[in-house]
Amino acid sequence: MYDPKSLKAEEFISDEEIQDTLAYAEANKENMELIDQILEKAAEMKGITHREAAVLLECPSEEVKARIFDLAKKIKLRFYGNRIVMFAPLYLSNYCVNGCVYCPYHGKNKHIARKKLTQEEIRREVIALQDMGHKRLAIESGEDPQMNPIEYILESIQTIYSIHHKNGDIRRVNVNIAATTVENYRKLKEAGIGTYILFQETYHKETYEQLHPTGPKHNYAYHTEAMDRAMEGGIDDVGLGVLYGLNLYRYDFVGQIMHAEHLEAVHGVGPHTISVPRICPADDIDVNDFSNAVPNDLFEKIVALIRIAVPYTGMIISTRESKKMRERLLELGVSQISGGSRTSVGGYVEEEPEEENSAQFDVSDRRTLDEVVNWLMELGYVPSFCTACYREGRTGDRFMSLCKSGQIVNCCHPNALMTLKEYLMDYASEQTRKTGEALIAKEIETVPNEKVRAIAKQNLKDIEAGKRDFRF
Ligand code: SF4
Ligand code: SF4
Repeated sequence: MYDPKSLKAEEFISDEEIQDTLAYAEANKENMELIDQILEKAAEMKGITHREAAVLLECPSEEVKARIFDLAKKIKLRFYGNRIVMFAPLYLSNYCVNGCVYCPYHGKNKHIARKKLTQEEIRREVIALQDMGHKRLAIESGEDPQMNPIEYILESIQTIYSIHHKNGDIRRVNVNIAATTVENYRKLKEAGIGTYILFQETYHKETYEQLHPTGPKHNYAYHTEAMDRAMEGGIDDVGLGVLYGLNLYRYDFVGQIMHAEHLEAVHGVGPHTISVPRICPADDIDVNDFSNAVPNDLFEKIVALIRIAVPYTGMIISTRESKKMRERLLELGVSQISGGSRTSVGGYVEEEPEEENSAQFDVSDRRTLDEVVNWLMELGYVPSFCTACYREGRTGDRFMSLCKSGQIVNCCHPNALMTLKEYLMDYASEQTRKTGEALIAKEIETVPNEKVRAIAKQNLKDIEAGKRDFRF
């Protein structure tokens, strides 16, 4: 029985409801009266339901697709302006006892180098990341209770926050580790994490079990209910993700929106972010084994529809996507990207030799952070290193109500400009600095609130004079 308020995975992600939704979408995919109504509702920028989103996804009309893209761009602009939040993944350990068939870290893969960073190695990685200019990290680790127990993760978070190299510091650590207990989520909360991220991979139970044949991750319900436990443990920013290309994309798309609706129904706050990774080549993994690969044009439509369905949720794209694809997806809804990423354990200090491959997947966008920052600015975006909300306690529903009120523009925009200024002063190349200074001078005038604008201008001067870490 479908019940978005239930705490049971099979009830809030009811297979029956998804099948009904897909049949409804198929039956109505050319029902223009209904489609017009859905698009009108979507234009109010308050979101649409999983059923409505499914109809739009199924609709074959190119004209409707153009309207979807147009609306997604408007929503993106309304809530996120031209800011793009920057982050970097940090791989702590690739020891893993699970058997995920699409991931080279799976326990049975014997030709991958296994590594686990010591606290000293983490220190060196973090300094390398700070020297690039990063302020926001997402730590990643395989699941191995012996090698990577929760104590190791907690100690690593403490190490990361404790390092202040030159003007650098990591101000927000997001965590992407395996589903765990309420007690462990509470410990993560106490350690000061930002978002807890856990990819669902697929919502289709049977396929999920086939893709995760061994290890604790095999348990579909335990994995799917993880966000509820995280929220019970006090973490109010959670990040969802489906690995597109694993199963029928339609099913996962609907499941993902139902998951967001469930979190809102039970906890009063939807997901903080949604990541949209696509399956890609990696050691021991052949993409051709997955017959459901999502082509680019369809992927664009999925991203645009997520933007429309959950307007207040940030969207993240990884370095798996090419520069061209990232450019397109930024326009349609993505609000956060990684820059200068290494997906191998210890990869920021030392690029590893090919024969010692410990990377989780191949990186398609190999540019440095400086190159990515410069590229974004040339496209008219403001790269932001802002972490203010989390540090001001604006998480969960407090963040969402600010976002829904539209007042976030008076925080995000000046914060983006001030953190970009820090980046330009401390880390940028000559060319990037020149482009950035011109951009800041122009953009600061667009901050709507006069008082905020004046303070921000003064702060920019103070940053120039050597001060750091201002925020609204
Ligand atoms: Fe382990 Fe995660 Fe890879 Fe699965 S996806 S094998 S849990 S690292
Ligand atoms: Fe994100 Fe808050 Fe900063 Fe805006 S002010 S960019 S929402 S952290």
